[in-house]
Amino acid sequence: MKSKKLKKKARQTNTHVFLSMVNEKTRQSKRRLDSMRAEALRLVEDQGVEERIRKCMCQACYYGAARGYMVGHAFTRWKCVVCFAIHEHPNTRVPVLCTACASKHGLCSTCMADMDMKLRTKEYKRRTL
Ligand SMILES: [Zn+2]
Ligand SMILES: [Zn+2]
Repeated sequence: MKSKKLKKKARQTNTHVFLSMVNEKTRQSKRRLDSMRAEALRLVEDQGVEERIRKCMCQACYYGAARGYMVGHAFTRWKCVVCFAIHEHPNTRVPVLCTACASKHGLCSTCMADMDMKLRTKEYKRRTL
């Protein structure tokens, strides 16, 4: 009799532990989903537009910046593909264009795409080559 009682109690404890695990995971998952939704909304509505334009970044680079890039934290010298000036960048993920050239030509400094994602019909002319 006593052991039956103990078994029942153990089963109840297991069920309780299992339920609280499931519920904790559900809460975590909900929080992840909420932040994914917020992030998606931020992208869809281009909520960071002012900072994005200030940094001369296209939407793909700006909103994708936090994902999937390995960045080394070392000052890195790089050359702008338009004005050929040498610049220094605080990490290894160096831009392609300097901000001056990027904003002058309406291009993303990180990937050289058109800032408005419009395909251009006129051939791009460099100042020097
Ligand atoms: Zn430049
Ligand atoms: Zn870009």
